[in-house]
Amino acid sequence: MDAAVVGSGPNGLAAAVTLARAGLRVAVYEAAGTVGGGLRGADLFGSGVVHDICSAVHPMGMSSPFFREFGLAARVDMLRPEVSYAHPLDGGRAALAWHDLDATCAGLGRDGARWRRLMEPLLAHGDDLAGLLLSDLRRPPGLRAAPALAGRVLLHGTRLGPRSFRDEEARALLAGAAAHLTGPLPSLPGAAVGLLLATLAHGPGWPVPRGGSRSIAEALAADIRAHGGVLHTGRKITDLRELAGVRVVLLDVSPTALAALAGDRLPGGYARALRRYRYGPSAGKADFLVSEPIPWSAPGTGRAVTVHLGGTAAEVFRQETANARGTAGERPFVLVVDPAVADPERARPGLRPVWAYAHLPHGSARDPLPLVRAAIERYAPGFTGTVVAERGMSGADYARYNPNYVGGDIATGAIGLRQSVFRPVARWDPYRTPLPGVYLCSAATPPGPGVHGMCGLLAARTALRREFGLPLPPLGRAGAGADGPGGAGAG
Ligand SMILES: Cc1cc2nc3c(=O)[nH]c(=O)nc-3n(C[C@H](O)[C@H](O)[C@H](O)COP(=O)(O)OP(=O)(O)OC[C@H]3O[C@@H](n4cnc5c(N)ncnc54)[C@H](O)[C@@H]3O)c2cc1C
Repeated sequence: MDAAVVGSGPNGLAAAVTLARAGLRVAVYEAAGTVGGGLRGADLFGSGVVHDICSAVHPMGMSSPFFREFGLAARVDMLRPEVSYAHPLDGGRAALAWHDLDATCAGLGRDGARWRRLMEPLLAHGDDLAGLLLSDLRRPPGLRAAPALAGRVLLHGTRLGPRSFRDEEARALLAGAAAHLTGPLPSLPGAAVGLLLATLAHGPGWPVPRGGSRSIAEALAADIRAHGGVLHTGRKITDLRELAGVRVVLLDVSPTALAALAGDRLPGGYARALRRYRYGPSAGKADFLVSEPIPWSAPGTGRAVTVHLGGTAAEVFRQETANARGTAGERPFVLVVDPAVADPERARPGLRPVWAYAHLPHGSARDPLPLVRAAIERYAPGFTGTVVAERGMSGADYARYNPNYVGGDIATGAIGLRQSVFRPVARWDPYRTPLPGVYLCSAATPPGPGVHGMCGLLAARTALRREFGLPLPPLGRAGAGADGPGGAGAG
């Protein structure tokens, strides 16, 4: 075997696609019973309705250089809601990020022109923006978006950002997108994430894959098999020596797991640096089977798959900062997903999948169900009465479900200014480890969390070049909408 990939999350699968297409003999080892990591889904209530267990909404699946070259949209139906995301506020109001920028600006009233001025320069270089923020942050493939991005990040990474708008709606629209960072706000990384996601809302949109996120995992796995790769499920690797004789090993695991897999073979300095790696807050998720669409008070909210619940920008900033410091509030930031808005076939007569996760402190074992129900009731009175079945999964449960979510941290590492670039340690090449032929390719490397496949692609690029003297192979199906041979993040 030329290459082994440990872990089959989107990054492990992206790495395996890249290596297999370069002509290597590749085996993927996945501890769980099915491949996909954060892309898995399941019929949780035995009703025929599938819930995504982790990721659900894929703006980066449309925009990351890996998925663009892979031609994801030509392989999986990506269904885009007309409202990318909504952010209800008290008093029956809601801010709506329509896919259509004009509609968004019209809805934002006297802040409409300001939202347009914020977004238009970023949208003009949308691919470049995604290429920049979804790169290894060392050699970004293009910098045309950088001037527009830099000034905006500096403003919206501070408390002055919300003051550039007059009303709460526009402020909330950006704060809710920034809160995807799951860390203290405002912050420069939070502003970068928020601006990227808000821009994507008006560009490729915030789509859901037909049938759920597992469709993405299936497309990646099919491509690996088509290029001779083998996928082993139910196979947890506990020591790197199990893979002795394999020329390169790519690890889609946490830095903690890397240290455990390597044992005392890691040099002391690197091992100490891994121990200094910090994990962030956890996510507690509530899965619901409901009898009807969520009864949102604010018009338009029900046209979005993704709804942010956290109140005003000031409230979101306060909650996220307190949460990152370990103080659990009674009103955490909550993200609601109602996939049947864009993919009606996800629902059955009288049964509709809805789920939501709350940002909670690191390691939290708290049952998220009461918190999430209360958060939805605040903006959709009567919701609880529509619930047919439900289950809660705490941060601690997530840590047991997937070892990459250390302490329930679904980002596999806190994202502060330092750790967004120096992930997992301060090195020019973050994917290489000091062990010969061993690379890290999980979300604990740049560009960090999310379903974009870039950590896998970039780690595979390094391994191909260093170990085999090979360039990146073409990743697209012939004539299937790829960007071109070797173009993905080739930098
Ligand atoms: C509730 C929730 C909602 C989310 N929503 C979104 C969203 O809507 N959009 C988005 O873009 N992102 C979302 N994310 C984040 C996204 O899922 C992750 O950032 C992404 O999956 C990380 O990919 P990865 O390949 O690095 O690791 P993972 O997806 O975590 O996969 C790692 C895999 O490696 C396996 N593994 C680990 N150790 C071993 C071992 N020793 N041996 C064998 N196998 C091993 C694990 O079992 C797992 O399958 C969400 C995450 C969660 C939990």
